[in-house]
Amino acid sequence: MSDLMKRRRDLLGPNVSTFYDDPVHLVRGEGVWLWDAAGRRYLDCYNNVPHVGHCNPRVVDAIAAQARTLNTHTRYLHEGILDYVERLTATFADPLKTAILTCSGSEANDIALRMAEAMTGKRGIVATDATYHGNTTLVSHLSRSNIPEVGFGLAGCFRHVEAPDSYRIEDPDGQRFAARVQEAIDDLEASGTGFAALVVCPLFLNEGFPTQAEGWLRPAAEAARRAGGLLICDEVQSGFGRCGSHFWAHQKQGVVPDVVTLGKPMGNGHPVAGLVTSPEIMARFRTAFRYFNTFGGNPVSCAAAMAVLDELQSKDLQANARHIGLLAQDRLRALAAKHEVIGDVRQAGMVFGAEFVLDRATKAPAADLADRVVNAMRLRGILLSKLGRHKNTLKIRPPMPFDESHLDLLMTTLDIVLTETAVQG
Ligand code: PMP
Repeated sequence: MSDLMKRRRDLLGPNVSTFYDDPVHLVRGEGVWLWDAAGRRYLDCYNNVPHVGHCNPRVVDAIAAQARTLNTHTRYLHEGILDYVERLTATFADPLKTAILTCSGSEANDIALRMAEAMTGKRGIVATDATYHGNTTLVSHLSRSNIPEVGFGLAGCFRHVEAPDSYRIEDPDGQRFAARVQEAIDDLEASGTGFAALVVCPLFLNEGFPTQAEGWLRPAAEAARRAGGLLICDEVQSGFGRCGSHFWAHQKQGVVPDVVTLGKPMGNGHPVAGLVTSPEIMARFRTAFRYFNTFGGNPVSCAAAMAVLDELQSKDLQANARHIGLLAQDRLRALAAKHEVIGDVRQAGMVFGAEFVLDRATKAPAADLADRVVNAMRLRGILLSKLGRHKNTLKIRPPMPFDESHLDLLMTTLDIVLTETAVQG
């Protein structure tokens, strides 16, 4: 075991995960590139937090300038949080015009669930059976794969419905998913818990970003609203232009959620997150509970987040995401014509990937092969990962400035790795 791995285990405890059989020791980043301690360069095709590129100069300068001037909590008056929330909410439809800023997506989702309880007087939450929404005691219950061993007796409040899977489950218009949501709502109502909210990532990114027609989520959203509950869209991964066609993925789904939660890319690595909701829901929550977050919305966080919006808009990185997503789809389809293991190709702008199967007829997932491909790519200097309902889908989710030359290097290397993997069997 390397010295760093041993120190991690001794200092951070066992079972702290790392990526790759041979973990990467990173020391520097710039744009879409990362360097390890030996000076080796890697193409970052995975990290969505450095949304506008690693160590983006505009963001770094904004953080440094504000840190040099003032940093405090939000109990003093400051324009930073107001200017940012004004600018942020301008990207949302009415009535989503108020915000709470936090330090993590988990905190934002935690507040969203409490808002649902405040609005409905009920506690039942519906999520998919292959998702992740964060790590607080309450929010951990949303992930079926990670249910807390001891959970303060909250488990009865949650129902997990079959995650969408466009490759294996026939559901072109979202009616089947809506029916599953309805069953879960009925079950919560019958149990006495009652239904408070449906929580989904509008791209179903952790579930493997299934291919969906625009408006696919609408029937499930209608089921939630008919039952008197809230629609919470978790855009921690899917937001800030990543899907290419829209700035927010719920807009692609043709729904206006009650609460939208945000995080990861929001501060390009600076820990800023939050949620956007209507004045009515905000007023209800703020009256019921005096929420305060020491670091949330501080002037340095808001300067970082504002610089991210400036960079996205001035360089039109959403358009780049749309363009690269379509090219990536073409390149992946060309690889599928050559490599039998690719059963399905998916993209939603700057998130794309391929599902690996043992057999195209049975669609049996090839999770081990996906593992080998991810590790072989790492050895060739390309960082990516895998995810999905069957843990067999390549997850390619680079920083937004990823361009055609980067895509070419990625796909050329993937072709070589798939050829070698096929030879090795
Ligand atoms: N929601 C989604 C969809 C996520 O992917 C994550 C993190 N992977 C979270 C919420 C939690 O965010 P954080 O780690 O900032 O608490």
